[in-house]
Amino acid sequence: MLDVLKLNEFRKVNGIKDQVNALIEDGNLTACLTCAACSSGCPATGIMDMDPRKFVRMAVLGMDAELERHPWVWSCTMCKRCYDICPMQLNIPQLIYYIRSKWPREERPKGILGSCDHHLKSRGGAMGVPLDDFKFTVEDLAEECRETQPGFEELKADIDREGAFFALNQNSREPVTEPDELLPLWKILHKAGADWTYYSTMWAGENYCMFLADDSSWEHIIREQAEHIDRLGCKVLVNTECGHSFFALWSGLQRFNIPHKFELKSIVELYAQWIREGKLPVNSDWNTGNIKFTVQDPCNLIRKSRGDSMADDLRFVVKQVVGEENFVDMTPNKSNNFCCGGGGGALQSGYNDERREYGVIKFNQIKATGADYVVTPCHNCHAQIEDLSHHFRGGYHTVHLWTLICLSLGILGENERTYLGPDLAEYGLD
Ligand code: SF4
Ligand code: SF4
Repeated sequence: MLDVLKLNEFRKVNGIKDQVNALIEDGNLTACLTCAACSSGCPATGIMDMDPRKFVRMAVLGMDAELERHPWVWSCTMCKRCYDICPMQLNIPQLIYYIRSKWPREERPKGILGSCDHHLKSRGGAMGVPLDDFKFTVEDLAEECRETQPGFEELKADIDREGAFFALNQNSREPVTEPDELLPLWKILHKAGADWTYYSTMWAGENYCMFLADDSSWEHIIREQAEHIDRLGCKVLVNTECGHSFFALWSGLQRFNIPHKFELKSIVELYAQWIREGKLPVNSDWNTGNIKFTVQDPCNLIRKSRGDSMADDLRFVVKQVVGEENFVDMTPNKSNNFCCGGGGGALQSGYNDERREYGVIKFNQIKATGADYVVTPCHNCHAQIEDLSHHFRGGYHTVHLWTLICLSLGILGENERTYLGPDLAEYGLD
């Protein structure tokens, strides 16, 4: 009797359910069949004794008090795998986002909050780097490259050059903590003959305000970028190797109805285009040892935005560079791939044990391929998959695509090999 009374009490207080139902275009939380398809394919199932089916059920029952401050919302990466598989098309990531947004702002995870606020304050990126520091790094590195790397005497890297065809964003991790990682990307752009510039307003790729579920700050960052790029007259905004920054732009431009004249592209599709056009004459001749590679499909770039056509471009590039026979796909893959656990702000949420628990499925997927290297065209995937290898002693290496492309082109510098293993650390150096 007590349970029935309690249930009736819950049903009266059904704010979350009604508010989320009003937000989602298709599906209705009440329509949940409790089939558990979502939970069975969710890497966050079991973490904090929660899973997506249970979460939806609690929302339907009006258990708002239990859900409103449940920390599981910071372990779910909003990867959208549950949404794709749900027979009733229930948008669970929207439910999670909604509940994140209901946390008092100052009580949301400090790492995510701090990254968002640094971004807003510096008008640059999540690491709060002043624009002058970014400018100095770009100018200094470009000059050094021109002076020391044969074939790149004419290399250009600038900021706010009006009329450049491509405007490029850049995850602030590179200029701040590993500037040598900028060079492979610039050298690829130079080889391809790309006319590009960085832009000074909100120049970084990342967007932790989105993970914070702070709509107005997410919008502010995207709107400032869009206005600035249009002022420069650039035709294409190129998102470099980062999944969530692509999604923040792709989704943010639509969600906030932000006017813009440029087209948004991922560097991955440009790599593929330039290889097909012969501008990047990569080949796999260097891989005489038949080193094996697999690839991580970033949820934000594949399942959540551009779909399997982008996953196909990614595979095309990797196979051209490492050799088709040396590529081993994960199972499942492309739009059905498992999230690695580095998305959704998880790397900054402070729930590190939970993040690694989440990553076990990904770790096992990688190990099942037998690959020596995981190619990760996304910063968060890169950081998480590398951490999983160290933590669980996976023995595999994690590399950016730009590293492999430059290795294949014979233009990878000595200081640009941080993520290569001993088997490739000196390959191609005189
Ligand atoms: S997959 Fe959809 S219908 Fe099935 S339990 Fe999950 S939310 Fe409910
Ligand atoms: S969005 Fe991803 S992590 Fe979150 S409940 Fe769905 S499948 Fe699980």
